[in-house]
Amino acid sequence: MKLVNPLPNTPVILTVDDDMATRKMIGRNLRSEGYKIVEATNGNDCLEIYSRLQPDIILLDAIMPGMDGFECCQRLQELITSPFVSPVLMITGLDDETSVDRAFNAGAADFVTKPIHWPVLLQRVKRLIYQSHLYQELEIANQELARLAMEDSLTGIANRRRMDEYLEQAWERSTEERSLLGVILYDIDFFKGYNDTYGHLAGDFCLQQVTEAIKNSLGQQNHLLARYGGEEFVVILPEIDSSNGLAIAEEIRKTINDLEIPHKMSAITHHITLSLGVAVMVAQAEHSPLRLLAKADYALYQAKTTGRNQSVLATSTFDI
Ligand SMILES: [Mg+2]
Repeated sequence: MKLVNPLPNTPVILTVDDDMATRKMIGRNLRSEGYKIVEATNGNDCLEIYSRLQPDIILLDAIMPGMDGFECCQRLQELITSPFVSPVLMITGLDDETSVDRAFNAGAADFVTKPIHWPVLLQRVKRLIYQSHLYQELEIANQELARLAMEDSLTGIANRRRMDEYLEQAWERSTEERSLLGVILYDIDFFKGYNDTYGHLAGDFCLQQVTEAIKNSLGQQNHLLARYGGEEFVVILPEIDSSNGLAIAEEIRKTINDLEIPHKMSAITHHITLSLGVAVMVAQAEHSPLRLLAKADYALYQAKTTGRNQSVLATSTFDI
């Protein structure tokens, strides 16, 4: 099998050995294969250089004064974080079973024994770097997939699935801590008319513009903004009281009102406006978060039927 380095950069090898002659030999042999070599003479230096450089592989001498290779390998595992998992190749003069076991138990990916058989070392280095690069690419792809699975593709904010998950967690926390939990449910007034008049591409662009402005207006608060479906959106606000929840809803409404995105089919004005329903409650273990959403939905319905371009706070008389 021909191993092709999937990354364009020159791989960096960190060689850790207390013996200068061994370091020089390893350096010479690996440099001639095109690798970049960084040297350390003891375990502490190895940990320090690792944190700074994150080399592609660490060749670690097992027997060193002070911190030995096994301990150093163990401590490296705490520094190594996914997806950049640098493999450790342990080099030991002891080829008895105990040291092999100790090397693997400490987290080493493989080992070679001294005296070093150079073709074996070169093949192992090449294979370990190749495998770790593949692993990195796979991990990065997985993280990207996980992100996409939680994101609304049009607006880039959280999708319904992410919202359900977040709301469930926030509901549980509110139940445990007896803290208030708020949601704002909003939609764009006369949006069907907008799509019918300006077309669906313009409709999509409008949703993006509105979302971007709301993202900015929400700033760094503790919240989740999500697309609920179509032109309906949700803001989940943990630990918020009714007056602050309503104030945030009004801020959102004003932000979009002030954008003055033309909308000639609006029956109340000539630009895009929002109607918003706000609900705040302490979660109860015997109910599901749907109760909170239903209250906000009812408040949104009130906002729609009593004039639009307004925020309505669900009161206890809305209890269902
Ligand atoms: Mg040594």
